[in-house]
Amino acid sequence: MIKKCLICAKQFEAHHWNQKFCSENCARVQARARVKANKQLYRKIGNVTGEMKRPDGSVCINCGKTFEQHFPNEKFCSDTCRLDFFSLSAVETLFDFVRG
Ligand SMILES: [Zn+2]
Ligand SMILES: [Zn+2]
Repeated sequence: MIKKCLICAKQFEAHHWNQKFCSENCARVQARARVKANKQLYRKIGNVTGEMKRPDGSVCINCGKTFEQHFPNEKFCSDTCRLDFFSLSAVETLFDFVRG
């Protein structure tokens, strides 16, 4: 089948249904472009998460994971961690009580 190269727009005979490039050279150009785009994307994500970071309170006190606060002084990344933390401290309190 005749296909159009995604890089140089040249028409070529594809030997594979998913062949997108006329040559290895063009495939390499595409691969390099994708790596570059990924790097830019990661940098962008890094900037966004950096802005979201607050001086305190954004680290889950149960699992230590950084999370996005939905209200000020939120201490847990999830309901699971909240329940985990409180059930754990409840058990500890009980043990303390038993031990005297
Ligand atoms: Zn090409
Ligand atoms: Zn957590």
